Amino acid sequence: MIFKKQSFKFKLIFSYFLVVLFSFGLVAFFLDKKLEENSLQDLKSSLINQANLIETQISTEAIQNESLLYLSELVKNFSQKNNARLTIIGLSGKVLADSEKSQTDLQGMENHASRPEFKQALVGSTGESIRYSSTLRIDMLYVAIPLRYKKAVIGAIRVALPLENVRRNLLVIRKAVTLGFLFALGLAFVFGSMLAGTIIKPVNKIIHASRRFSLGDFSRKILHDSQDEIGELARTLNKMAEDIEEKVREITIQSQQLTAVFNSMIEGVVVLDKESRIVSINSAIEKIFAIKKKEAQGKLFLEVIRNSDIAEEISRALKKGESVSRELILSWPVQGVFQVNVAPIYEKQGMINGSLLVLHDITEIRKLETMRRDFVANVSHELKTPLTSIKGFVETLLEGALNDKENSLHFLEIVHEHTNRLDNLINDLLELSRIESREIELDSQEIKLRDLFNKVILGFTSQLNKKNIKIENNLQSGLMILADKDKIEQVITNLLANAIKFNRDNGFVKIYSQDLTGKTKVIVEDSGIGIPTKDLPRIFERFYRVDKARSRELGGTGLGLSIVKHIIELHKGSVGVESVEGLGSKFWFNLPI
Ligand code: ADP
Repeated sequence: MIFKKQSFKFKLIFSYFLVVLFSFGLVAFFLDKKLEENSLQDLKSSLINQANLIETQISTEAIQNESLLYLSELVKNFSQKNNARLTIIGLSGKVLADSEKSQTDLQGMENHASRPEFKQALVGSTGESIRYSSTLRIDMLYVAIPLRYKKAVIGAIRVALPLENVRRNLLVIRKAVTLGFLFALGLAFVFGSMLAGTIIKPVNKIIHASRRFSLGDFSRKILHDSQDEIGELARTLNKMAEDIEEKVREITIQSQQLTAVFNSMIEGVVVLDKESRIVSINSAIEKIFAIKKKEAQGKLFLEVIRNSDIAEEISRALKKGESVSRELILSWPVQGVFQVNVAPIYEKQGMINGSLLVLHDITEIRKLETMRRDFVANVSHELKTPLTSIKGFVETLLEGALNDKENSLHFLEIVHEHTNRLDNLINDLLELSRIESREIELDSQEIKLRDLFNKVILGFTSQLNKKNIKIENNLQSGLMILADKDKIEQVITNLLANAIKFNRDNGFVKIYSQDLTGKTKVIVEDSGIGIPTKDLPRIFERFYRVDKARSRELGGTGLGLSIVKHIIELHKGSVGVESVEGLGSKFWFNLPI
């Protein structure tokens, strides 16, 4: 386990060391043993030879007579020449002469009868022994041969040498072997490091490159041109990196295209997994529900979009295994009508893996439908009221009222009035439809607004007088706009008509302007009945009137402000109103200068 964690270099050097250790160990063990044996053997042979040589020189009588002086001379002579210790031992084990002892010292010497080499010599063979010499205080090799007189053993000749020499020789060899071993270890380390280096360097390069590849950086390839396995590995990895890079590029392009499509969709799209956790949402969903994609991802649908109706549709689709759809009205954070479609997403094996939710904003469609319905109903209603009256009076006349001169004239006047209303209504409708269809071309020209207002005011003289309304045209005489004169005249007419119609007796109407950047704001202020705040947002809608009966009574069609709005918008301007019920209203329009 520990070995597994070590670096390749360590393992390689370690195995080199093991090989060196085993081979040197074996060699050293056997060599040492053999050398020791051989050296001892040689030493023994040489000692035996020396003993034999002495035997031939020694006079047996001297032994028998124990002529110690002679023997002492002999052993000393021999020892000096051969550097060996020589001892002559009598049959009883008494030392007769010893090269290391003087004649007087011999007296104190121990009896040698118990020495193993002497015992062997006495039985007629060559005795040997390695022992610690108490005399010389070192390990010695003793060799003893029998001394014979007429075939009878009369003593022994013992030659001894210290083993130190043998050991010293062995030590020299051991030192050489140890040095060799250390040298081999050093070599193993150097070669191991070198070899590990040549292998590790490219391997490290490959490791670094692989890390870069895994991080998606394929810009630099692995540079290694050797023909061995590592070179092959580098080439294979480079090829793999190229392939991956190509695939990644393809996938990136595809994903970018998909993301672009996904995010540019007007429909809101949510991708969910099978546990209804959000996998992805597009920009439209971010806008509809005021959420952020990053915060939504991975969370449960209901955690992020707290709409139980949609969640119900998702579980219905997952349960049924087929697409479901439903129309929902959302009120928060956006208001609108949405078509909700949920389709299950299938895996290859036919298992449901998640679902796809698509939200289609159909608010505008529904609004237009409602508007169309309302418009038809309104037009029918507006037409029906005067027509019913006309029909009634005409029938009365036909049924005989024609003969009643006085009444018939009155009836005809009423019929005439209703016909006029119908005419007004149809004209307004036609005008509105023409403006709305945008077919109309603007005949733009420079208009002096003050003069145009004065011209229209002139047309209202009798109405103004009737109610004693004071009108002030405070527009500057230099105020010019570029617009379609007839259309703007229509706008002024409609606004002034209302300002007079809905005014009180002795009231006033003020016309003035404000300069805004790049445009002029023209305001028509009256001291009339005003408009309730709740009606203000809808006042420019077709047929919208605060008080229907009153408007009709005053000859209104409910289309005047709608026409104003359309004409101003046609001129790229805008309209608006501020009003306080009971105090008066300020209608304004902006036009680019
Ligand atoms: P109408 O033919 O009824 O005047 P408009 O579209 O011109 O139709 O006006 C719509 C409604 O707006 C009117 O019926 C009236 O209730 C309200 N209105 C318009 N102008 C004024 C005003 N100056 N003061 C008070 N109410 C107004």
